Amino acid sequence: MYLYNSATHKKEEFKTHTPGKVQMYTCGPTVYHFAHIGNLRSYIMEDVLEKFLRFQGYDVNRVMNITDVGHLSGDNDEGEDKMLKGARREHKTVMEIAQFYTDAFFADCQKLNIKRPDVVQPATGLIPEFIAMIEGLLDKGYAYIAGGNVYFDTSRLERYHIFFDHDEEDLQVGVREGVEEDRNKRNKNDFVLWFTKSKFEDQALKWDSPWGVGYPGWHIECSAISLKYNGEYLDLHCGGIDNAFPHHTNEIAQSESFLGHPWCGCWFHVHHLNTSDGKMSKSKGEFLTVSLLEEKGYDPLAYRFFCLQSHYRKALVFSWENLDNAQGAYGKLIARIAGLDPQDGPVDPETVAQQREKFIRAVGGDLNTSLGVTALYDALKLQANDATKLAVLAELDRVLGLSLREKAAARRAEDARARESASHTGGITVDGEGDPEIDALVIRRAQAKKEKDFALADSIRQELNRRGVQITDLPGGVRWRLAGKA
Ligand code: AMP
Ligand code: ZN
Repeated sequence: MYLYNSATHKKEEFKTHTPGKVQMYTCGPTVYHFAHIGNLRSYIMEDVLEKFLRFQGYDVNRVMNITDVGHLSGDNDEGEDKMLKGARREHKTVMEIAQFYTDAFFADCQKLNIKRPDVVQPATGLIPEFIAMIEGLLDKGYAYIAGGNVYFDTSRLERYHIFFDHDEEDLQVGVREGVEEDRNKRNKNDFVLWFTKSKFEDQALKWDSPWGVGYPGWHIECSAISLKYNGEYLDLHCGGIDNAFPHHTNEIAQSESFLGHPWCGCWFHVHHLNTSDGKMSKSKGEFLTVSLLEEKGYDPLAYRFFCLQSHYRKALVFSWENLDNAQGAYGKLIARIAGLDPQDGPVDPETVAQQREKFIRAVGGDLNTSLGVTALYDALKLQANDATKLAVLAELDRVLGLSLREKAAARRAEDARARESASHTGGITVDGEGDPEIDALVIRRAQAKKEKDFALADSIRQELNRRGVQITDLPGGVRWRLAGKA
């Protein structure tokens, strides 16, 4: 399998530290609000990557943090804690906000068939580990204390800006116009490991530490959580592209300085979901959520299908028209699969194995999910019986996660129910106002007419008239309306 590694700027053959085992880490959500569908694009693509690794036989240990403290409004240690902002917005405590939006995040993930990682660790649950790592960095001379805070000293590194070939001058994120520079920092890219003093003194959650009562910076959580659950060697680190700098750059700085050896083999960054006005982001106020898609009548899996159709390393533009197209194509695909007969067997295991290999080659070129989707259409065109086609589709869907089998079965059951009810009514369709009792009378009258029992038909019509129902016979069916509305 080949993956683009943002740290080396190349597509590389994916290798792991321990053969057959993948230590995988994913930056989790900051739980101060609902995830928007841009955030979820990143998690969908990371989920496909994880499933694709397992599909190839790797034993994957996937770890995710939940950021419930320390992520300030600006990624460069400026502004107030996002969690506090959420709590103030909703007149709740920070922990209530964290619990509510963590649950909401995993509920969205479930709707999108995103598997829950093996380990999920909220930052507030591991403060002693963060403190120990910061102490280690201080002991080794990679950190300093200034103005009550502990900072990482980037001047101690031989190499810092690993994801970019930019000049250091271009990376002055801390010195944006209108933002007061933190005068405690010795170098402009230095970042906070532990706060005891910030301009926002009303920080809700604080812990005791060797440097005073305070709270951790955002970056240290990912280094320490990964170290605890993935061990000293990480094979794969994932996140959205906006996390590459400063967050991931700072994770590398901390982890490698602490460990004294190279840390992570491959960095996987998902590019952004944009709207026509630019990147989708929560700070702009309005943003799209999974619930909103559902309210508008979209199947969340149609959004997953939409994401799979394009490459993770390209920005993806969201529009309702694009989502309509994806929903239409997904529905048609399900209908075609529902048309296959599961009884048309037996399954040919050789065909399944061949298609599996072909799929691995196609998707294995830098997680090419659109070729993965194409493979589904190829499976429908195979020279094979239906049971074999269904087996191939089920196999590929272990990676793509589109619930093809379940959706097709539901569709078949729905079609069977429609046929069944049509047979009960002798194929008579009723266009009424949603009253099953009247529907039944209307059908009985139509059946009586068919059987030339006109006396019965007339008496039912009189009964319907008494109830204020007006009926119109149409070819193949009957329309009824309550009088006055006909
Ligand atoms: P956050 O909850 O802000 O910490 O972000 C969660 C994840 O979503 C991170 O991996 C971000 O890099 C990623 N992300 C943020 N905005 C977008 C976007 N518009 N498109 C795709 N991924 C995003
Ligand atoms: Zn992180």
